[in-house]
Amino acid sequence: MSEDKPPLIGLSREELAEAMALVDVPEKQRRMRASQLWHWLYVRGVSDFSHMTNVAKDLRARLDEVFSIARPEMVDEQISVDGTRKWLFRFPARGAGRPVEVETVYIPEEGRGTLCVSSQVGCTLTCTFCHTGTQKMVRNLTSEEILAQVLMARDRLGDFPDATTPQGAIVPSEGRMVTNIVMMGMGEPLYNFENVKKALLIASDGDGLSLSKRRITLSTSGVVPEIFRTGDEIGCMLAISLHAVRDEDRDILVPINKKWPIKELLDACRNYPGLSNAKRITFEYVMLKDINDSNQDALELVRLLKGIPAKINLIPFNPWPGSQYACSDWERIEEFADIVNRAGYASPIRTPRGRDIFAACGQLKSASERMRKKDRDAATAAGTAA
Ligand code: SAH
Ligand code: SF4
Repeated sequence: MSEDKPPLIGLSREELAEAMALVDVPEKQRRMRASQLWHWLYVRGVSDFSHMTNVAKDLRARLDEVFSIARPEMVDEQISVDGTRKWLFRFPARGAGRPVEVETVYIPEEGRGTLCVSSQVGCTLTCTFCHTGTQKMVRNLTSEEILAQVLMARDRLGDFPDATTPQGAIVPSEGRMVTNIVMMGMGEPLYNFENVKKALLIASDGDGLSLSKRRITLSTSGVVPEIFRTGDEIGCMLAISLHAVRDEDRDILVPINKKWPIKELLDACRNYPGLSNAKRITFEYVMLKDINDSNQDALELVRLLKGIPAKINLIPFNPWPGSQYACSDWERIEEFADIVNRAGYASPIRTPRGRDIFAACGQLKSASERMRKKDRDAATAAGTAA
């Protein structure tokens, strides 16, 4: 990836066609060229203009002079005993002082492969049970950087035409390696709405990456004013990090609740475009010992969700160094799940994946920090002097 050459990845079709003007493609040919590029970038997965064999050589050279389609640097790849993979990617600074790093996680299962994608470097919110919440917000990711996580994962898994999957990799038994995207990595996606929207519309484009919107889920801690737009403008599936059933508890666990309390959040859910029994909202509920895991909590959860087409996803708490919570005992989780099940809700208990490589829910954190002002000034001064 390049700091100085503008990227083509992450541009809408219209923007891509407009960009062709900069390499002197005549107006009449711009849309055709944009379609060609789209195919190379998102169906074939090329990251080098020289591979675009149906584009004339001199135009390829010109594109390469002006634009970038390069991948980010992969700093680290860890593979769990259960096949879960975690990558650390590095992106250019783009004003954040130094290059930034984010984590992306791949979770293979029998019939699907789910990619957990980050939307921000760090998070402005401070949910008390979440590791990412302890990392200061550095910056939003661009639409290019959000898509780059998907493209890199597919590169590494050999998930493009003519590519080979690494020997011994654990992947779905048939079909594509990446079948689902969840915006559940680092950051609050609805605090980076425009970039997330752009990236997800490209990911679901039928002539490109072609992921069905039913297989893309965006998780939010509860940014109420953006919930309607998520359904209306992106049209993906919605997950809500609920985690508590009373405002006084949720105020502590998910502090954004002080701004938009449970009632407002659930009202926004009721109005989610396209909501039906076939298209339910997932409510995530992290199981914290003696905090939110009583039978009363379960009953209240059922009462609150009445009338909302919902699935409840119980997440065993994943500990991280310095965390102040413990995971509920297994019997407690099962009893909680029974109550919810008896009320007619599917409530799968999410199997923790990739704990050995620190890739499970809420364990992501990168070393990226925003430079302190003093260091930034020093760096700028050094840059000017050089
Ligand atoms: N910021 C968004 C997207 C992150 S999703 C959101 O909060 O929804 C990550 C999911 O994992 C969220 O439901 C989050 O609440 C949950 N989570 C965070 N820390 C966790 C932990 N330590 N153990 C289990 N789940 C956790
Ligand atoms: Fe941010 Fe989500 Fe973690 Fe809360 S749970 S701190 S919103 S990433």
